[in-house]
Amino acid sequence: MKFLVALGAGESGVGTALLAKNKGFKVLVSDAGKIKKKYKDVLSHQEIEFEEGKHSKENILECDVLVKSPGIPETAQTIIDCKNHGIEVIGEIEFASRYFSGNIIGITGSNGKTTTTTLTQHLLQKGGFNPIMGGNIGESFAKQVITKNDGLAVLELSSFQLDDTIDFKPHVAVLLNITPDHLDRYDDKMENYISSKFRITKNQIETDYLIYNIDDQNITNYLKQFPTKAQLIPISIYKKLEKGAWLENNKIIIQINTETKMTIQKLALQGKHNIYNSMAAGVASRILDLRKEVIRESLADFESLEHRLESVVEVCGVNYINDSKATNINSTWYALESIDTPIVLIMGGVDKGNDYNEIAELVKDKVKGIICLGVDNTKIHEAFERHIKIIVDTQSMYEAVRYANKIAEKGDTVILSPACASFDLFENYEARGREFKTEVRGL
Ligand code: ADP
Repeated sequence: MKFLVALGAGESGVGTALLAKNKGFKVLVSDAGKIKKKYKDVLSHQEIEFEEGKHSKENILECDVLVKSPGIPETAQTIIDCKNHGIEVIGEIEFASRYFSGNIIGITGSNGKTTTTTLTQHLLQKGGFNPIMGGNIGESFAKQVITKNDGLAVLELSSFQLDDTIDFKPHVAVLLNITPDHLDRYDDKMENYISSKFRITKNQIETDYLIYNIDDQNITNYLKQFPTKAQLIPISIYKKLEKGAWLENNKIIIQINTETKMTIQKLALQGKHNIYNSMAAGVASRILDLRKEVIRESLADFESLEHRLESVVEVCGVNYINDSKATNINSTWYALESIDTPIVLIMGGVDKGNDYNEIAELVKDKVKGIICLGVDNTKIHEAFERHIKIIVDTQSMYEAVRYANKIAEKGDTVILSPACASFDLFENYEARGREFKTEVRGL
């Protein structure tokens, strides 16, 4: 009997353990921290052995395959030890895809993954496919493969998940954009992060497709140096193309075998960044032969996601938007870009190495006040003090929303688009977004 260890007992580790047990492996789940009760209950119920608060090295080194949680870096001692012992180290996506015989649509990028994955799933579902949706979102892919191992799977893939793949091969890969993020895990080298994202196409062959953003220089430069075997399908909002998707007179044109046209005003998801997301989802669906009427209809009736440019409510003519999921500078750039009124911007938190110059022009043009919401706001002050008059510090959502309400006038927009992670003051970005909505609704 083969022995599998799942390192890390989160959604992916527990899903892996369930699939491994189902496939006849001996299984151990090992977590150096505490395991959530809901996962412990599942493991106990399935009679899967687990340990928490430690990794018992002697046991672990006996295994044939180690499936690590994407959160655990390559440099963790247990990973090094396993590799030194010749143990195969992979991630949940690699493991689960070995038992999935259907076609995979894999979606990656620095921003827009969840939006595009959910949107693609929506299109395909309306088109009569019944795809699995997993990866970095919802229920683990591994767990879903136990009951459905063919058909279609739409997977959101982070760079960490891609790092733990070996033979993984999506039939359709989507690469939305590459901007600096998580560089701490990549020796602060952008090129390492870029090649991590490109692992999505590494095993693709001539009958597969890579949908990529041709406006993104990090992507096009890499492709010039390291061509892929997959058929290249570009998307652009600046260039007219011959195939793929592009813009003409405020219409999206999707050219895959036949032409699909759609007015951008009709898209459910507004904002420039969402044009890319809609294009990517539309092109992926056309590759799978979805009818153009279904694509047009589904791109128009999709319900937007919580915490991503989510309209909350209008108070005294001021529009409040929750964009708590904007945890890096690029997402905030798109948020500011998509708003046409004067803006009061609530931002700050744990900065992952932001270069605020990237949004300086937009801030100068559109932002009348910045409400900093974070423990350390020095960098934000340094970047914007000379550009705008109002910049204040707050330490709670209650304070931040009240300040914003004071500054904003009829016709303005108040947006929470922090450009930073949330861990200094909140449990996660969802909690931050929910608090924002509660405070706004209480005004
Ligand atoms: P991810 O799953 O990659 O973190 P999300 O779909 O959750 O991305 O969106 C995160 C944030 O990024 C949102 O606040 C949104 O405004 C912004 N965003 C969404 N799509 C894009 C895109 N294609 N390019 C740049 N920013 C985007």
